[in-house]
Amino acid sequence: SIPLSFFGGIGGASKNGVLIKGSNYLEALNHVDTVVFDKTGTLTKGNFKVTQIQPEEGWSEGDILYYAAHAELHSSHPIAVSIREAYQKEPDALQLADYEELPGKGIRVKVNGKTVLAGNSRLMDAENIRHPASGAAGTAVYLAVDGAFAGLIMINDEVKPDSARAIRELKAAGVRRTVMLTGDSKKSGEEAARGLGLDEVYTELLPQQKVKQMEKLCSQAAKGGKLVFVGDGINDAPVLARADVGVAMGGLGSDAAIEAADVVLMTDEPSKLVTAIRIAKKTRRIVW
Ligand code: ADP
Ligand code: MG
Repeated sequence: SIPLSFFGGIGGASKNGVLIKGSNYLEALNHVDTVVFDKTGTLTKGNFKVTQIQPEEGWSEGDILYYAAHAELHSSHPIAVSIREAYQKEPDALQLADYEELPGKGIRVKVNGKTVLAGNSRLMDAENIRHPASGAAGTAVYLAVDGAFAGLIMINDEVKPDSARAIRELKAAGVRRTVMLTGDSKKSGEEAARGLGLDEVYTELLPQQKVKQMEKLCSQAAKGGKLVFVGDGINDAPVLARADVGVAMGGLGSDAAIEAADVVLMTDEPSKLVTAIRIAKKTRRIVW
């Protein structure tokens, strides 16, 4: 039977903006060994802004934005939203055909009969498109049209003001290991991790590599220690499912992730996880 005060703990959590979907998760939050965060939309705002457009010889900034905004028309990725914002016009869906979203890489689609690729350097490598390395800060979105590199768009995200404090307080609450997983570039991932004070960061991961890394981290947790994953749910539902406690952002997060999650942070603040752990500890004192 479930002690009554567990319901008190769950109720108290929900008043504080944390939805806990069962007393077993509240109990697990008493034994957190490792917390793994997704980067984009979880520790960062996921509110990317286009900061630079670099067309190749023969292309204009307008061309780059036109193809990129059309390629990104049907994607809900924060990168896609920022590119559509920068375009400032309504892309024409009738110009699109054969749309394909390539998780952890980008988009392939026909725009006006031309084959367009928009995504990271891994996508360009996979398609044998010669392209320059990007030196600038942030995330680079490379664009290729009919097999030739056409230019790149630089995009910047900001860390949430709440993230560094959350990581500090998790450590203070006894969490042994804090980790970030990201599909983003080494440069941009390591920059963010350093600023946040995370113990470890793994970058340039495809969704299935995130799952693999999660399994590894699970096997390395202290005996009886629990592993928590916190994500925004874009591409990370399979990772969420691998954790002892899967936590989703309730505001930005996708409906699928909120459904798959064990705990939902309704305000999208990572520090709400600390709140949940504190409530779990308090509830436990009342139970025993
Ligand atoms: P994260 O771990 O940062 O949440 P994702 O797995 O969602 O990253 O994406 C990893 C990388 O794949 C992004 O940093 C980006 O380079 C590329 N990517 C994913 N989706 C898109 C898209 N719609 N357009 C362009 N690039 C994308
Ligand atoms: Mg993501």
